[in-house]
Amino acid sequence: AGFKGCRKIGGSQIRNLLKAKDVFLFDCDGVIWHGEKAITGAPKVVSTLLKQGKNVFFVTNNCTKLRENYVKKFYRLGFTDVMQDHIFSSSYCLALYLRDVAKVQGKVFVIGGDGVRSELHKAGIPFVGDEDDTPDATIFNCGLASDVKAVLVGHDDKFTFLKLAKASCYLRDPDCLFLATDADPWHPLQNDRILPGSGCLTAALEVASGRKATVIGKPSPFMFQCISSQFRVDPAQCLMVGDRLETDMLFGTHCGLDTMLTLTGVSQMKTAQEYKESDHSINHSCVPDYVVDTIADFLPAFEE
Ligand code: PLP
Ligand code: CA
Repeated sequence: AGFKGCRKIGGSQIRNLLKAKDVFLFDCDGVIWHGEKAITGAPKVVSTLLKQGKNVFFVTNNCTKLRENYVKKFYRLGFTDVMQDHIFSSSYCLALYLRDVAKVQGKVFVIGGDGVRSELHKAGIPFVGDEDDTPDATIFNCGLASDVKAVLVGHDDKFTFLKLAKASCYLRDPDCLFLATDADPWHPLQNDRILPGSGCLTAALEVASGRKATVIGKPSPFMFQCISSQFRVDPAQCLMVGDRLETDMLFGTHCGLDTMLTLTGVSQMKTAQEYKESDHSINHSCVPDYVVDTIADFLPAFEE
């Protein structure tokens, strides 16, 4: 009892579900696009939901872009009516966390790219990062900034041993916070390639520091708290749509939302069923309520 159904739905079942929900939370990669290519039918799904007066939010663990750059990406990919206020990325939410929750007094040491830095800058949070990452710099000869009160880890394609070493030193101070944009292990690319995720950088620093990071992105419920602090959203009225069981479905469960797995991304039906049949209750939290092949399956449900 109380277990998620993992029910493959179509036709009138989708129609009834869409009618019953007022708020749709979409994960981005694997649900509405693959990298730089929209999932077929996804722009039409989003614009139809918006025309029907539904609330549509985007919750992405991808920390590499400013929200205004997500708006541009949406537009480029054919989503012409998505507004910045409705986009919640892990870097934006992390900046909100530092400013409004942790109220950190001091500097943040950043492992991460421009997306993270720009969101911090917009939130007025002072940070330091790769100042002296010259070829000769080592942990033996570089300086450490004073008053670093938080270490932040996000996706960083210029990650270095020196950044890892410095971050480990800052985390010796128990009052220095340890935050991560997300703990995603890897992301699928074209041609069977993968991109290592922020999670592996966080894991390296967890080992070096002997501490555990506070994760801001999915599956932590914080991104939903960000949405509900800005909009009136009733969890019972929400549907969380995602492609990864361990992030999106678990996030939805943590927030008390109905969940839908779409099979256009990372996780497959077989794994969802294995989680459902598993003896460990944490696995049950990763099981979706509903499963569809693609969100394009919503399109027939919009026609009367
Ligand atoms: N982080 C990075 C760096 C990515 O490239 C991706 C996906 O491409 C993600 C996170 C996951 O994004 P989402 O939560 O939208 O699936
Ligand atoms: Ca995804």
